[in-house]
Amino acid sequence: MKPEDLSTSLLPLAPIPTKLSTALFGLAICDALGGPVEFKRRGSFPTVSKMLPNTTFKVPAGSWTDDTSLALCLAWSLISNAGKIDLLDHAKRYYQWRERGYMSCTGHCFDCGNTIRYALTLWETTEFTSEEKGVESVRKTLDKSSFSGNGSLMRVLPVALAGWRDLEVVVKNAGRSTEATHPNVMCREACQVYCLLVATILQNVEKKNESFSKKDLFEVLEGFEFQSKELGEAVGKGSGLLGMKYEEIRSSGYVLHSLQAALWAFFTSGSFEEGAVLTVNMGDDADTVGAIYGGLAGCWYGDALYDDIDGSSESGFWTKKVKEWRGDLQKPEMIEKVVGGLVELNGGGTGGSVA
Ligand SMILES: [Mg+2]
Repeated sequence: MKPEDLSTSLLPLAPIPTKLSTALFGLAICDALGGPVEFKRRGSFPTVSKMLPNTTFKVPAGSWTDDTSLALCLAWSLISNAGKIDLLDHAKRYYQWRERGYMSCTGHCFDCGNTIRYALTLWETTEFTSEEKGVESVRKTLDKSSFSGNGSLMRVLPVALAGWRDLEVVVKNAGRSTEATHPNVMCREACQVYCLLVATILQNVEKKNESFSKKDLFEVLEGFEFQSKELGEAVGKGSGLLGMKYEEIRSSGYVLHSLQAALWAFFTSGSFEEGAVLTVNMGDDADTVGAIYGGLAGCWYGDALYDDIDGSSESGFWTKKVKEWRGDLQKPEMIEKVVGGLVELNGGGTGGSVA
């Protein structure tokens, strides 16, 4: 595939609240869909196309994992602080999740990643007394390429959903938000470019730009000036991302792999469902690659609210399968509440009930 081939994939328009909802639900749906095959080798399991129980963590079908929980923690922090980044508040909420299952769909944390666990231990040693102390401690210990996991990228979506009206602020906030747990340059730029793409989509939705295509969005990706040479070579200008084959795409927890896999699936597929099935069946860090894909793709394809779709009708986002996935998702009301908070933060707006 070449960038020119993307020019016919036009952005579906919808009210902003709809897009906020489909983005966050897109993240949660793909997280829950991929959870049962996390850690599994590609090709070693039957194709996943429905919600299955997560036997690794012994949780029922439709259970979303740390990706969604931490995104919801971050979203509540933004909602509670009028859109401002407060890393001390973020860390406290992530800690509540780890300790007491805050924002989990099961009431307990069952899958804390190593870097996040490490970072929260560092915050704990500062007794959550000041943002500065916590950030300094995390930076001192975890600002290394060996801590380039996808743990901040998988949760960063709400930064874009909250601040999309100002691209400069979104990029700055995305870079700041990673510092709570993943301070190194590759994690920072992965979060920044991802939020830049989501915010660009929302700006074009608001402008009702009917001719905005995936090719235009791809140019935004290519225009990003990466300091991380490796990340730039993986997804930036001249990376050859669109020409890569499925077999060449890796889906590990390394942030470079996760971002590359999610972007590749988004740009080379034609519907939310197609890209979702592609990503989660990559195996390995399937739920997180799915979540990263799902947030971006949910924002792009969303064009109707779940409540507005009856049994027989379909939209670009809500195919029969996606409706089933949404119906099988655990605790959707927790996600709906967060969407409501994000809509408020965006100044309200029309678009019916969120879901
Ligand atoms: Mg997970």
